Amino acid sequence: MSVVGLDVGNETGVVGVARQRGIDVVLNEESKRETPAMVSFSDKQRFLGTAAAASSTMNPKNTISQIKRLIGKSFSDPELQRDLHLFPFVVTEAADGGVAIHVHYLGETRSFTPTQVLGMVLSNLKSIAEKNLGTHVVDCVIGIPVYFTELQRRAYLDAAAIAGLHPLRLMHETAATALAYGIYKTDLPETEPIHVVFVDIGHASMQVCVAAFKKGQLKILGQGFDRSLGGRDFDEVLFHHFAEKFKEEYKIDVVSNPRASHRLRAACEKLKKVLSANPMAPLSIECLMEEKDVRGFIKREDFEKLAYPLLERVKAPLEKALAESQLPLDKINAVEVVGSGSRIPAINRILAAFFKKEPGRTLNASECIARGCTLQCAMLSPTFRVREFEVQDAFPFPIALAWKGSAPESEEGDQSHPNSVVFIKGNPVPSTKMLTFYRSGTFVFDAMYADTCELPPGTSAKIGSFSIGPFTPNSEKGKLKIKIRLNLHGIVSVESATLIEEEEVELPVNKVKDHPQARTEASPMETDKEGTGGNKIEMDVDIGGYEHPAQPLSENGVPSSEDKFQNLETDSSKEAVKKKRTKRIDVPVNEVIVGGLPQADLQKSVEKEYEYALQDRIMEETKDKKNAVEAYVYDMRNKLYEKLQDYVTDTEREELSTKLQQTEDWLYEEGEDETKSVYIAKLEELKKLGDPIEERQKEEEARGPVMSELWY
Ligand code: ATP
Ligand code: MG
Repeated sequence: MSVVGLDVGNETGVVGVARQRGIDVVLNEESKRETPAMVSFSDKQRFLGTAAAASSTMNPKNTISQIKRLIGKSFSDPELQRDLHLFPFVVTEAADGGVAIHVHYLGETRSFTPTQVLGMVLSNLKSIAEKNLGTHVVDCVIGIPVYFTELQRRAYLDAAAIAGLHPLRLMHETAATALAYGIYKTDLPETEPIHVVFVDIGHASMQVCVAAFKKGQLKILGQGFDRSLGGRDFDEVLFHHFAEKFKEEYKIDVVSNPRASHRLRAACEKLKKVLSANPMAPLSIECLMEEKDVRGFIKREDFEKLAYPLLERVKAPLEKALAESQLPLDKINAVEVVGSGSRIPAINRILAAFFKKEPGRTLNASECIARGCTLQCAMLSPTFRVREFEVQDAFPFPIALAWKGSAPESEEGDQSHPNSVVFIKGNPVPSTKMLTFYRSGTFVFDAMYADTCELPPGTSAKIGSFSIGPFTPNSEKGKLKIKIRLNLHGIVSVESATLIEEEEVELPVNKVKDHPQARTEASPMETDKEGTGGNKIEMDVDIGGYEHPAQPLSENGVPSSEDKFQNLETDSSKEAVKKKRTKRIDVPVNEVIVGGLPQADLQKSVEKEYEYALQDRIMEETKDKKNAVEAYVYDMRNKLYEKLQDYVTDTEREELSTKLQQTEDWLYEEGEDETKSVYIAKLEELKKLGDPIEERQKEEEARGPVMSELWY
């Protein structure tokens, strides 16, 4: 079983793996710890990761990046609409109101969903983990922004399935960072917690959380975010500044030219990084457009003036997280900054002024999320033993239920109001709630966001509908216990629906009265009992009107009905009394979820991904075979004049040299883009001439020592 943590950023992805000696961030094929979260499409194959990034300048229209901005969104989402001009690729509205990404691939225009493209990014990260671990990777934990909606979470799960991954948890990036920080702290207090604020500014968004740490435990107290404030927004400020400047100075309109825009944006990102370490920075791009070389220059202070409106926005998520935590500033023990977008010195100044203390950078800013996710995966997996550390994450959006008819009772027994909140803002993840409905037949309720103001504009409040039934109660209204779960991914589901029925039976009485496990309706029959799957019917015995002493419970906290019957059977008394017996009958639950792929479509996408991956593999193997021909040409040419020169006749050398030269020319001309089998045949053709010569030389060498033995 694999233990892997994946951080998929808007710009880059990081892969963590657990080994017996600890957590490692692993290297990709180019020996880098960060892999571009990109996919590039060409006529012959896809390129993933670093290879995709390499082709982004040459092939910007077919290179997809920032997939995290598109995932699980509707095309009309105003935030997405604002992003559109940043994408060099074509994005349109899909038939279902979602997003369709159009690229030229395998000789034709094809469209992909963001879920499919994220599936490709994930399968690339998966293969990096597999190459490092030398095993198949399936189980993992994947980081997601805390502000992700239900739709985005479901899309992530679908993308993971397309990549052949099984996430044990979609973990909030904020909690992953806090875990990576806390688990290695050996000096955490036993009682009074310490409070740490984590600020993550990435490529496209900002997230903040306030965490309380005690020995063996972390608890998220408050969260804040800005979905659209990250490093790329600072690049954009520079981009517009220089685009304007070049319009005046060079009379070129960079914005109108996608390739020139792409190059200027990339140059601005570099410039921004230089400005983080230097008070000024130059910009120079050769042949940007209309064959003009451009030059520019900017001082850090001027950049900060230009970026003032962005810098102003950094404070709001800090204030929100702090307010939610209900902590005064002086209770904040430390501020930790992560995410590479936060390297801008002005941001550091804002944080220091706000918290009245210098922010720390003790965590590895680009790796902490992957590390936190890997730790969480290790904790959830039976393969590794990890230090006991409880992660109490918080869910940022309140979830309510809506139904027709009378309101249910919550587990605490209070009467809920229509559209009542089942999971409050900041509710621990995961959580379950038990509700009791009184209904005569199949009924439906909706799960929805109780408040949409913190969600992307236009997000539908409805998460899903749940139909409970059919069932036939033995009285006018049946009592139904509905167990609702906010699962480890932050997704809402109905875990079980149980019809609770009482019936009267005649049972012997004597021992029952003394029996310690006999129970009333008020006993923990309501106990959240795990694993009531299938159609199992459970029975409990109730004795009406009888007061019992506090009863000991069986191992799982529930009195065992079997025990009771055993005791009852040993009772020899003939006396009988009418007692109530409780039957628990599982009732079917049908979910109509908003979003996520239907199983058949998901399966189709899985097969497609397999097909694309196969095509990529064929292309890689073709490249290998072509390289083998090329390598043979150079190698043999040298050998003919060195190692093999005593074993080859002039005619042979002449013939093979000519053939090698012809092959080299062919490789650069008509043979440049051939199939794998053509390259294999070509190599064999050359070897037919070359092998006999090499054989001769080998034989001679083998004979050598024998000859020398004779001499002595
Ligand atoms: P997100 O968290 O939004 O999903 P991500 O995790 O890919 O995205 P990071 O890798 O944390 O983002 O940060 C990438 C951003 O950091 C880019 O915008 C990059 O330009 C910026 N960045 C990297 N180094 C520096 C630097 N030295 N100074 C300023 N910005 C930097
Ligand atoms: Mg990030």
